[in-house]
Amino acid sequence: MPLRQVSVGPLRKNVQEGEEDIVSKEIASSNIAAGFSRAGRRSNESFARGIMVFPDGTSRVTIERDPTPLYIERGMGSYLFDVDGRRFLDLNCNFTTLIHGHTFGPVVEALTHQLQRGSCFANPTESEIELAELLCGRIPRIDRIRFVNTGTEAVLFAIKAARAFTGRSKIAKLEGAYHGAYDWVEVSQAATPDNWGDAFEPKSTAFYRGMPASVLDEVVVLRFNDIEGTRRLISSNAHDLAAVILDPMPSRGGLVAPKPEFLAAVQEATRKKGILVIADEVLNLRQSFQGACARYGLVPDVITMGKIIGGGLPIGAIGGREDVMKVFDASAGRPLLPQGGTFSANPLSMTAGLAAMRHLDHAAFAHLEMLGDIVRNGIGRAISNQSAPLCVTGAASLFRIHPWAEAPNDYREIYPTPGGTTVMKELTRFFAENGIVLPYGAAASISTPMTRVDAEFIVDVFAGFLESHQDMLGAIKVRK
Ligand SMILES: *Cc1c(COP(=O)(O)O)cnc(C)c1O
Repeated sequence: MPLRQVSVGPLRKNVQEGEEDIVSKEIASSNIAAGFSRAGRRSNESFARGIMVFPDGTSRVTIERDPTPLYIERGMGSYLFDVDGRRFLDLNCNFTTLIHGHTFGPVVEALTHQLQRGSCFANPTESEIELAELLCGRIPRIDRIRFVNTGTEAVLFAIKAARAFTGRSKIAKLEGAYHGAYDWVEVSQAATPDNWGDAFEPKSTAFYRGMPASVLDEVVVLRFNDIEGTRRLISSNAHDLAAVILDPMPSRGGLVAPKPEFLAAVQEATRKKGILVIADEVLNLRQSFQGACARYGLVPDVITMGKIIGGGLPIGAIGGREDVMKVFDASAGRPLLPQGGTFSANPLSMTAGLAAMRHLDHAAFAHLEMLGDIVRNGIGRAISNQSAPLCVTGAASLFRIHPWAEAPNDYREIYPTPGGTTVMKELTRFFAENGIVLPYGAAASISTPMTRVDAEFIVDVFAGFLESHQDMLGAIKVRK
């Protein structure tokens, strides 16, 4: 595993795998001994200050708090250190972004070099070409690409590009799927049993009070893995649909594998009617060397990217078929879709992304896949050993634990129940007590500096949770 050497910090230097195990367990037991199941004193003090300047104390709704968040002092490799001096194995990785963990040597080096040369210019730099060449060369179906600053922006421009290309305005998306903060993709992101409508024709539901009705009218909502419904809804709206946007394994929809016939249905129904397929791989590009569509056999027209391709800096990208991407082409005057952005393709994001992606080679993916299998299989075994009413989903370097005995199929099947929520909160807390940050209700991610020992430790902690929470688990309703 050549990647580990570059990313080790002082704590891990010259530490053999066996010894690391001892370090992890020592720290974990000291965390427990100190009664640190939640944020420490200094985090609480920081939060008290945050409350005075932010509406809820922080700048992101997605920040986990129990009841206050952990404030981070620094990250190193696969670890986070909070301001109270505790160390945690980081399974959040800034929402799956940091595939090489924190302070990855080549990224730090590339950024240090670039910082001394300037952070942004109103001219292109050669770094943008290098990252573009890497992505166009690696990801199937990307003939041309544009860089922006976030996944939200990538999705927004991909949808506008599809509209400009087709001359149609509607889009279709999966119920419960997350694609960032563009209004059209927020539709039905948080549908509830009270408003999601019947199973055959999901309603378009507002994401926030005051969401324009016109937006709701322009979004057709599909259910993940619903083959017949997807075919029917795409074809009955075909004349107005610019695109179907889908994440091949929606993380907030449960991180459930797509049925091949479902992807085939999307493919066939759209192709017949000239509707574009936008694959949102902002999160799932990390599923293989060539991304998630390559893994699952979807052939998209446009792919949106973000997260890992910035090496830890803000980034987004829209890539796709040459004729579609032509809507951005300003070489002959005003393009069909003008797209700029003050910080788009800034050399810091470009050089950090290039360093990270270059080191994400086949060996790195094999390592991630191996660790992911250890974690998912180990968790699955612990569940069946204890006959616990839980299950685990995910693929490659991603996993998600659910409070159901049967693997869910789509968003409606992961809709939280009071018992399930209690168990998942307790699970996250138990992991924190044992020195692991496990995202609550979202995808957990493995990074390249993690080792087999880390993977086994995750499984051990999970098995420990099952053993010590049998009463709580016995009380949750098993849904078939
Ligand atoms: C994270 C994410 C986004 C939004 O990316 P930001 O950089 O947070 O704007 C969009 N789509 C998917 C699938 C994501 O996981």
